[in-house]
Amino acid sequence: MRVTVDPDKHELFDDKSIFEKLPHTCPFFRHQPGSEKAYCTVHLTRPEICRDYGCWRLLILNHTGRRVGRIKYIRTLCSDDALLTKIWESCIEEHKEPDDKKWEDEMCRILRRAGYTVRR
Ligand code: SF4
Repeated sequence: MRVTVDPDKHELFDDKSIFEKLPHTCPFFRHQPGSEKAYCTVHLTRPEICRDYGCWRLLILNHTGRRVGRIKYIRTLCSDDALLTKIWESCIEEHKEPDDKKWEDEMCRILRRAGYTVRR
């Protein structure tokens, strides 16, 4: 199966600095420089196995029960939901709690207050 880089992710895809820290990561995975956000740069054409694979640390659902975001890896948000991304950027991304459990609890509280459901 062929995949293609999403039209809005070419610049991100061209930045190969992620391989200095994560040499064995997927060739299409990229961190947004200067942030904790990360993306699949071939999200629109990603392989079936990626669509089926439920790799997540925390799963975020909207008020209709639709999956709108996943927290993967360390503290990385994967989402195309504009509101969720905005909440993440304004309330969560800068939250530097070193204790993972406390960080998750606080993140869940913020997202639930905004109307999302969070599953661990
Ligand atoms: S969803 Fe698949 S193709 Fe995209 S970054 Fe993850 S492993 Fe790679």
